[in-house]
Amino acid sequence: MIFSENRFTLFRIMLRQPPPRRLSSACSPAGRTLRPNVAACARNTLIASNPMVSPKHVCVIGAGVSGLAAAKAFSSRGHRVTILERSGDLGGVWEPARSYPDVQTQSPKDLYRYTDRAMPDVYPEWPTGPQVHAYLADYAKSFGLDRMLRLNTEVAGMARRADGKPGWTLALTTKDGKATNEDFDFVAVCIGQFNEPRELHCPGEDGFLAQGGQILHSSKYSDPALAKGRRVVVLGGSKSATDIAVNAVKSGAREVTIVMREPVWRIPYFIGGLVNFKRILYIRAQEEMFPGWGASAMARLAHRIAAPLIWANWRGLESLLKAQLKLGPCKMVPNERIEDGVNCSVPIATPGFYPMVADGRIKAVFGTFDYYEGDSIVMSGGERVGADVAVLAIGYKLGVPFLPAAYQQKLVDADGQYRLYRLIANPDLPELGFVGFNSSFCTVLCADLAANWLVRYADGQLANQPTAQAMRDNIEMMLHFKRVERPAAGVYGGLCVAPYHYRHFDELMADIGARNQKRGGLAGHFQPPDADAYAKFLATAPDYRATA
Ligand SMILES: Cc1cc2nc3c(=O)[nH]c(=O)nc-3n(C[C@H](O)[C@H](O)[C@H](O)COP(=O)(O)OP(=O)(O)OC[C@H]3O[C@@H](n4cnc5c(N)ncnc54)[C@H](O)[C@@H]3O)c2cc1C
Repeated sequence: MIFSENRFTLFRIMLRQPPPRRLSSACSPAGRTLRPNVAACARNTLIASNPMVSPKHVCVIGAGVSGLAAAKAFSSRGHRVTILERSGDLGGVWEPARSYPDVQTQSPKDLYRYTDRAMPDVYPEWPTGPQVHAYLADYAKSFGLDRMLRLNTEVAGMARRADGKPGWTLALTTKDGKATNEDFDFVAVCIGQFNEPRELHCPGEDGFLAQGGQILHSSKYSDPALAKGRRVVVLGGSKSATDIAVNAVKSGAREVTIVMREPVWRIPYFIGGLVNFKRILYIRAQEEMFPGWGASAMARLAHRIAAPLIWANWRGLESLLKAQLKLGPCKMVPNERIEDGVNCSVPIATPGFYPMVADGRIKAVFGTFDYYEGDSIVMSGGERVGADVAVLAIGYKLGVPFLPAAYQQKLVDADGQYRLYRLIANPDLPELGFVGFNSSFCTVLCADLAANWLVRYADGQLANQPTAQAMRDNIEMMLHFKRVERPAAGVYGGLCVAPYHYRHFDELMADIGARNQKRGGLAGHFQPPDADAYAKFLATAPDYRATA
C-alpha cells in the first residue's frame, strides 16, 4: 500500500479537525450542537413554503452535465426554468456528435454521477461516451428537464434588463438565424470548459492542405475511418491525444506519431495493476498531503513535520508508475515531481498507449509543430514527420464570450484567473451564477453540489449566506493561494477543484447548512466521495420552496 494507516493517524491528530457545527434548522433547536440522526431528520423535514422567496424565471445556459444539475436544482425549489442549448442535443461534451470513438470517462461511474441518480448497475466501472449520454438523457426525462429545454438556441449576448428589474436580457439566435431578446430574473451559466476549440496555425499549412493533407481539432475526430491506411500525427499530451493515437493504431493507420511538449505523469485505471485509482486519488488522506488554502499555523506546522513521509510517499508512487507503465524504456519519465502537477489536467493512461510507444506502433516526439512542408510536418526540435492527417488535441478556449466586457473584467483577471467565490458566484455579477466551473476528477458531483449551493445563494437561503465583502476577501485569498502558494491550482483559470474535492465539498455543504457530515473515522479518510451520502447530507439542510 502506498498510504499507511499509521501515517494518517498521525496526520489526523496533527491537523485541526473542525468542531461540530452549531445548527439551526427545521430538525434542530436553534443553535444547539448536534450529532444528527441523518435518516430520522430527512424523514421529519417538511418542505416549507417560504414567503421570502418569490419564484424567478431562471435561464440555464447549456444542457450538459452542469446545465441539467442547475435546471433540476432551481426547478425543484419552485422556480420556472428555461434551458438554452445551442446544439441539437443535450449532453454537452457527451453529445454523440461531439465524441471521438472509444471515448469513456476517466472518473469511475460512482464518482461521475448526480447525488439523486446512480448510473445503471450494468454500466462498466468507466462508462463509454454513449452510456454517459444515455444516463444524462434519462436523468433529464425523469425530472422533466427535457420539457424546459430549447435546443438549437445560442446565447449570443446579454445585458442588464432595461425595465429596471433585477436580471438580464439575453440576446438569442436560433439555428435558422432568428434573433430575439428575452428577459430572465436569474442566469446560470453552465457552458463548460470544452466548447471553443483552440486553434493552431503554422506556416506552410495551405500547401499541406492543398496537396491533400487534412488538419482537424480532436473534437472533430469522430470517424476512425479517417485514420485507416494513413499517416496520423496527433499533437497534444492529454487523455484525448493518447486516446486518439491508440484509436488510430487500432483503426489501421499506416503510421502514428504523437507530439507533446514533455512527458507527464499519467495514472493507470488500476495502480500497481490492482488498486482502482479512486482509492488513492480521491481520498481525504491523499488530499491532506497537499497543503490547502487558509491553513492555520498548526496545520502548516503539521505539514512541515510530516514532509519527509509525504515526500517518501510521492517517490514511492512515482517508482510504482515507472515500473508499471515501463516509462523508462518508453523514454516517458516526466521531469516534474508528481505532487507538483496534480490538478484537473492529470490524465488517465489510455490502455495500450505505453505498450504501443514501447513497440514503436506509436512514435513519440517531444516538442510542437513548427511548420508544414509538402506532406510533412517539421517539429520544433527539427524532426520531420510525414503526415496525411494532423489531429490537434490542443484543448479549448476558456471564456464566457456573451458576457459584456465590463462584466468580463469583473469575472476574469488579466492573468486569466477567475474571480469566483466557491467557483460559483461573484458579488459584482448580480443575478448570475456558474455551475460546473468547479471542475474536478468528479465533475458531475461537483456540478450537482454547486447547483444546490447556487439556488440557495440566489434565494438568500444559504445557512452561511456570505456578504459581498466576505466573498471578495475569500476570492483574494484563493487567488493568492493559486498564484503564490500552489501554482498548479491555477490551471484552467483556477477553475479546478482537484485534488481538493473533500475540502471543496465540505465548504459547500457547510454553506448550504447540511448537518455535520459523517466522515467515517479513520476508515473514512480512505474512502472516495460517496454521492449517495451527499444526497443524505443535502436532505438534512433546511428546506424551502419559492412561493408567489
Ligand atoms: C472526452 C472528455 C472526457 C471527459 N471525461 C471526464 C471524466 O471522466 N470525469 C470528469 O470529471 N470530467 C470529464 N470531462 C470533463 C467534462 O467536461 C465534464 O465532466 C462535464 O461533462 C462538463 O459538463 P458541463 O455541462 O459543465 O459542460 P459541457 O459538457 O461542455 O456542456 C456545456 C453546454 O453548453 C452549451 N453552450 C455553450 N455555449 C453556449 C451558448 N452561448 N449558448 C447556448 N449553449 C451553449 C454547449 O453546447 C454544451 O452543450 C471530460 C471531458 C471530455 C471532453
